[in-house]
Amino acid sequence: MADTTTSLPLAPPGQTPRRVMTIAGSDSGGSAGLQADMRAFAMLGVHGSAALTAVTVQNTLGVKAFHEIPVDVVAGQISAVASDIGIEAAKTGMLASTAIIRAVVATWLAEGLDGTVPLVVDPVCASNVGEPLLHASALDALRDELIPRATLVTPNLDEVRLLVGIDVVDDVTQRDAARALHALGPQWALIKGGHLRTSRISSDLLFDGSEFHEFAAARVDTRHDHGAGDTLAAAITAALAHGRPVPDAVAFGKLWVTECIRGAYPLGHGLGPVNGMVGLHG
Ligand code: PLP
Repeated sequence: MADTTTSLPLAPPGQTPRRVMTIAGSDSGGSAGLQADMRAFAMLGVHGSAALTAVTVQNTLGVKAFHEIPVDVVAGQISAVASDIGIEAAKTGMLASTAIIRAVVATWLAEGLDGTVPLVVDPVCASNVGEPLLHASALDALRDELIPRATLVTPNLDEVRLLVGIDVVDDVTQRDAARALHALGPQWALIKGGHLRTSRISSDLLFDGSEFHEFAAARVDTRHDHGAGDTLAAAITAALAHGRPVPDAVAFGKLWVTECIRGAYPLGHGLGPVNGMVGLHG
């Protein structure tokens, strides 16, 4: 029977919880990016470590600017954590540039994490109102150097279009996109259908090169969905750190993010966040 719980096993008091890392940008508005990831990790009872890649100057109306962290500092954060604390699963979010993508890949390899630690790549390219969070010139490095190392890649429909040139408009094109994305080399590709606003169901399609798995949830009628993609990928990462198989981890993440979207709230003058603390507050 499918798992319908939105909690993961907790470590006994005083014992080390599962250890996960996010490699992501900061959202000064507190809704998305590293802040959303750490919130999800905390809520799901895993120890979250963080390698900051960029600082966005952002509120609910949009991203005004971003500042990239020097590549040796990005690499240093990952190495410092890997060599001491350890990483049982990781996710990437905003990576901003080719140089940062290359530093992440090189460090991932140098620390012996490749092929041993599950890696979820959320290929963040733009904010949900379209401001770029990745230089256009970095798309090739994302596609050719990072995605092939991913256990799972989790694009939304805009990111799919940029990565494989397919406009997803229905089930057939969603399958085409899953095949094309999987051909880039990740173990699993998840095409998130949440932005397909014509449907009353939010359906995500997972593909491992042979079998399709569909994850559907009733669409929640809200414009406040900032941080949804990050929260989903972070929850999947937490479940992978517990050794859940990818389809189970995705099912878990989908249940978790759907609860968070149901709890979304208005904030500022623009698009509010999903409630990453649903169940604890609201
Ligand atoms: N990471 C950062 C730093 C961001 O600013 C954003 C969006 O603005 C994202 C990731 C992706 O956000 P979402 O989960 O809403 O797709």
